[in-house]
Amino acid sequence: MHLFETIHTTEHEQVVFCHNKDAGLKGIIAIHNTTLGPALGGLRMWPYATEQEALDDVLRLSRGMTYKAAVAGLNLGGGKSVLIGDPRTDKSEALFRAFGRFIDSMNGRYITAEDVGIDVNDMEYVFQETDNCVGVHQVHGGSGDPSPFTAFGTLQGIRASLQHKFGNEDVGSFSYAVQGVGHVGYELVKLLRNEGAKVFVTDINEEAVQACVELGCEAVGLDEIYEVDADVFCPTALGAVVNEQTIPRFKFKVVCGAANNQLATDQCGDELENRGILYAPDYAVNAGGLMNVSIEFEGYNRERAKRMMRTIYYNVSKIFQIADRDGIPTWKAADRMAEERITTIGKLKLPFMGRAHRFPGRERGNH
Ligand code: NAD
Repeated sequence: MHLFETIHTTEHEQVVFCHNKDAGLKGIIAIHNTTLGPALGGLRMWPYATEQEALDDVLRLSRGMTYKAAVAGLNLGGGKSVLIGDPRTDKSEALFRAFGRFIDSMNGRYITAEDVGIDVNDMEYVFQETDNCVGVHQVHGGSGDPSPFTAFGTLQGIRASLQHKFGNEDVGSFSYAVQGVGHVGYELVKLLRNEGAKVFVTDINEEAVQACVELGCEAVGLDEIYEVDADVFCPTALGAVVNEQTIPRFKFKVVCGAANNQLATDQCGDELENRGILYAPDYAVNAGGLMNVSIEFEGYNRERAKRMMRTIYYNVSKIFQIADRDGIPTWKAADRMAEERITTIGKLKLPFMGRAHRFPGRERGNH
């Protein structure tokens, strides 16, 4: 493994390997870029087959966070952390407290949150050792479940897409295919139905589908969702669902949803463009969760959170403008918008070197 060669290419600032024998801790914190502010990104626990796999994941995910925060207009950098272990069998108080101490030692350069394999109870242990975690439980003054905000933010991305594609952002005048009606998907469906929209849904969970049918949605099969006659496809379950097999089946005019990594490859983004299907880049559309936790820095406030979600409309619109300006596909325009902001704002100040954050209204303590 040539770590310095790798991070030279990926342009990471810092990679920290964390170990504690007694706690069984094997963790990596990756800080990609702190030009805009402290690196924020979730903690993932996964039974990685090899250390290389864990490293690749944390490098990839932390870089993604830099772009997401930059496009969201937040004064945050990109970071992520991973724990090597099986979330079903390897969790303990000592593990999370040991990791919390490492996060604390970063002096605010890295701020963690929940990600795959981690729940709010695990974060309580991390929170006992460091203030530098967000998305903590509401009983501690945290922001709680971000899903309704992510859904509301996705609706703003849909509006911006409709405006760009049709010159009409009246959500109720169009039809939608929502793939996955879990935490975010169900909230999105409610918002769409409130506007009177025609909504098709699918999910592997029958009960979740039934709840949407009761709201007036039409249920379709898991595979059928790719070819329903709807204006907008909203992937809200899995990644890589926009791929070589599915694109030829699309009758959609717009792809705009909350799922991460919707495009199987960059070429699939180009193919959507070639077919005249407008793609609203996923990480700009689903930034609501990140925006929501970022408000914990100043003291969490739901009204502020909701107001911030509205900026997703302008962020997504700006991506479309850059795509038109530079004659490039929208997925590339999103990256360009992030890079332009980091460069411009980066010229105004030095990299973030760490400071104590204030989290008014929050108290640490045992459960
Ligand atoms: P969730 O697990 O609550 O919901 C996902 C839903 O997809 C579940 O109901 C599941 O049954 C369904 N599903 C799984 N496989 C499916 C398949 N093959 N076809 C159809 N449905 C399937 O997760 P969530 O929190 O709602 O997140 C949904 C997506 O949005 C994920 O990609 C997530 O990474 C992304 N996201 C979520 C947030 C957030 O605030 N929760 C923020 C940003 C991005």
